Formats: sequence, C-alpha cells, structure tokens
Amino acid sequence: MVTEMQETSKQKPPVLVVDIGGTKIIISVLSPEGEVIARQYLLTLADQGPQSVIERMFSAIDQLLEEKDVKSAQLRAISLATAGIIDIKQGLITTSPNLPGWENIALRSIVEEKYKLPTFLLNDADAAALGEHRYGVGKGLSTLILLTLGTGIGGGIIIDGRLYLGATASSAEIGHMVIDANGPECKCGHSGCLETLASGTAVAREAISKINQGEKTTLVDRVNGNIEEISAETVYLAAIEGDPLSLEAIAKAAYYLGIGVVNLVNIFNPEMVVMGGGMANMGDLLLEPVREKVKERAFPFLAKEVRIVPAQLGNDAGIFGAAAFALDY
Ligand SMILES: [Zn+2]
Repeated sequence: MVTEMQETSKQKPPVLVVDIGGTKIIISVLSPEGEVIARQYLLTLADQGPQSVIERMFSAIDQLLEEKDVKSAQLRAISLATAGIIDIKQGLITTSPNLPGWENIALRSIVEEKYKLPTFLLNDADAAALGEHRYGVGKGLSTLILLTLGTGIGGGIIIDGRLYLGATASSAEIGHMVIDANGPECKCGHSGCLETLASGTAVAREAISKINQGEKTTLVDRVNGNIEEISAETVYLAAIEGDPLSLEAIAKAAYYLGIGVVNLVNIFNPEMVVMGGGMANMGDLLLEPVREKVKERAFPFLAKEVRIVPAQLGNDAGIFGAAAFALDY
C-alpha cells in the first residue's frame, strides 16, 4: 500500500472518495478545493466477490483515517465511483463487467450505514468527465464529453456545467452507441457497438486477425510468438516503429472512433471531446484521424467549435470528479 500526504490549510470539511476499479481501489481524502490530503491504493481482487472487496475497502478506509488523524465525523461526505451501470438515485451497482458478481449491490447504503455520512455513488467514467471539467483540461467549459478508451469504452457528458444523468440517472453508455448495425458482437449482447470497433480490445483483435490471415508484422517477435498476448499497447509500440499492420489496426479503430465522435458532435454540439483511458496515450496517432473525420463529416458550424484533446488528470480524474459530484449535490 502506498500513502501520500499533502498539507492543507483549508478549514472546510474534506470529502472521502473511493474509486473502485476492476484492478485497484483508490481511496482519497480531498479538500473542497481539490487538494489531496491523503491517498491510499489497494488491489481490488474483484474475483473474491463483493463482500470481501467491501470488507477490505472498509479496513483500508479506517486505517487511512486513523493514520491521518481524521475522524469520520469531520468529513463532509463520501463519494464512490465504480465501473458499471449505476442507478445513481438508488445508489445501486446494477451490474458491472469488471466486477464479477456485483449484481444489484446497494453499495451506497452499505457505506452510509457504516459511516453515518451523506454518501454518493456514480459511474467512474461520469466521475472522470466531471473531474476533467472541474479540475482538468475542460475547466470552465459549459459542454464537454469524455470518452475512456480502454479494454471497453466508457463515457460521461457535461451539459451546462453539470453531469448529464438521464431519465434513470445511469451513465452515458457512449461505448454502446451502435456504429455498424451488422458489426462484431459486443459483450452487451448486441452488435456493432463503438467499443467492439474502437476499444483497445478491438485494436488487439484486429491485429491478431490480420496475423492469422498470414500478414507479416514485427508484433509476433514482440510477444515471442504468443500472439494472444498482443494488446493495444504492443500494437502502439510496433506502430510508432513503423509496422504497417499495427498502423492499419490503429487507423481502423481511429476511423470508427471518428464516426462515433461525429455523432456526438452533431447531437451535443460540445465545446470539447476529451479522450481518457490507456488508449489515449496513443496521442495524435489516434486523435488526428478523429479530428479529420469530424472536419469531414460533422456539420461544419459545429465541427469548427469542438476541440478533441487528451485527458489531463489521468487516473486521478475519477477521484476529483467524484468529490465534485458530492459537493454539487
Ligand atoms: Zn455493446
């Protein structure tokens, strides 16, 4: 476990934020101004099931508060961000592909009951959108859309400076926008969703399929012949060294991502589209074709206003956004 601390002179009560990802949990105490007072990481070990994860999360929270000499009564609120389809109003994780066994878990009331504090629960991509809007690359903007490009694609939408929740207060499932109705099968049960065509998984799958068709690439040596170990990252590393197959696999994902962003620009007329998640590290190799596609296919009046940029806060976006959400509500 890693802890770090930064002095804060602010007297307003801090917010405790927990970001529960498929791999790790980040626990932070933040001042209302966004200063990190304390932070701790632990492995999620999601396959041990919700009860075990929640118990370990509680003991890590208790330990962190004790170490920093913060009483839970001194906190203003607790805000939880997790992957999955969240019912924000009920505080439920309805289902989460990265957290096996988390079906209709009333996480908000479980945490509320233990700490007797106002508690909030939201989707991690929504939290990241809010984080980039309040403290990151989109500070001060009115309309912003964030996409998290990883093994899947998540998203969050800010309209008029606030997180857009929708009728059921769930997240913006931008990754499941249908791009090609007859496209590849998606893990949501349908086909041709943006995430099946433009996620990191899609990039790796495309490269592997070309190798299986007999195309030559430096990727095979890069993974010592174990082609199932090819990831979006290995494809990117080969691409920047000029490997044609890898460049093509990324160009194909960028093409579909571009179509998705054209749809978003035409519908929402955002000032900014922010790309976060591991694949955003591909930088202009991925983003430049997206910008070109928007210029080419979105309405020119809308296209000239929108900036398509990488996220700024990295893994911290969710933490800052979840704090902002608690302070907003
Ligand atoms: Zn889908």
